[in-house]
Amino acid sequence: MENSAKSVLRFCPSLCVTHACNLSCVYCYQKHSAGEHMSLEVARQSIDWIFSHVPDYADGVEIDFIGGEPLLEFPLIKEIVNYVCGKQPDIPFIFFATTNGTLLDDEMKAWFSDHHSCFCLGLSLDGTRATHNHNRCNSFDAIDIDFFLRNWPEEGVKMTLSEYSLGHLAKDVKYLHSLGFKDVGGVNLYEGTFDWDKDEYLTILIPQLAMLADYYAEHDTLHPCQLFDKDLSVCESQTKDRKKWCGIGTGTPFFDVDGRRYPCSFVTPMTFTQDELERILATDFSNDENFIDEECLNDCYIYPICPQCSGANYMINKTFKKRNRSKCRIQKLVVLFIADMEARRIAKNPKRYDEIKLYHTIEAIKKIREAYLGMFEAFMVNAN
Ligand code: SF4
Ligand code: SF4
Repeated sequence: MENSAKSVLRFCPSLCVTHACNLSCVYCYQKHSAGEHMSLEVARQSIDWIFSHVPDYADGVEIDFIGGEPLLEFPLIKEIVNYVCGKQPDIPFIFFATTNGTLLDDEMKAWFSDHHSCFCLGLSLDGTRATHNHNRCNSFDAIDIDFFLRNWPEEGVKMTLSEYSLGHLAKDVKYLHSLGFKDVGGVNLYEGTFDWDKDEYLTILIPQLAMLADYYAEHDTLHPCQLFDKDLSVCESQTKDRKKWCGIGTGTPFFDVDGRRYPCSFVTPMTFTQDELERILATDFSNDENFIDEECLNDCYIYPICPQCSGANYMINKTFKKRNRSKCRIQKLVVLFIADMEARRIAKNPKRYDEIKLYHTIEAIKKIREAYLGMFEAFMVNAN
């Protein structure tokens, strides 16, 4: 959900305007019931709550519209935007929605073009026509990709992986950059049904990671896709941050279609039972200590850059304090390839970082190679 217009310390509430969707993508876990959508009254109440609960740290509010497919509720979205603007909040605000892009008609395009500075519309696009069509119901040709590039040239796309697209990962990422998208977000190996304990997935993934490392080493001014977008130098930090990874429960309130509020868009009745939700809601989300895995913090070198979803941790371990270790192996593999890319980018342009960051990055590259290369050597040989 990266957005160039977002503020740095933003408060990011989201409104689920509908559970319905006009597609049925291969990886979608939602049950799309056509009738459930947010009423204008519920939306207004949610907005009133949001602007009376902006945390002190926030220097801006980003209101995300979520679905299903949010553009099914375009008239409601317009009403909400008008309502917020009419309130004249005394803090900067912006709207954001990710769409499958298939419903945009001329009226919507005109409205979004008029509002593009306060409303960022992100596109879900999974790669080449073949990959996208496989994952997302043959919808590639229904999308006006240029419309997104024209209106939000700094915005990226959200790419979701399926079992099918794993073997095309590098080609798909490169294709999205070739269209003109500067940022390829959402490339997330840690969600979905992949069983990373199975060696066959590593055999598929390793050549893809190698091709991406080559590509980003060669195109060294390009911002790497979300998978490769990690700052290795922070692994060398003297003091590790005892901070939550995400804004769950404090910075990301989620309003369901009925107006009920949840800690984030994942921790909802869609994912958890009522009993689990009650236990979860008793958590003190403002205390970061409730989210620190001491073993990871103390023993794992890549702790500061290991991506986490607290909700997913809870789903596996029934606590926020323990991370989901089933992803460790794959995380270490990805970091190895990031180290490879960084080493080559630095060799090409030793001045790309200031002196301290350069030193920390080189130290991190050495330590990551020493620690993890041995784990994957057999796979690397087989993959070549
Ligand atoms: S890679 Fe594994 S051990 Fe390391 S921080 Fe992540 S979850 Fe913890
Ligand atoms: S728990 Fe997961 S889905 Fe929820 S805010 Fe954190 S990272 Fe996002």
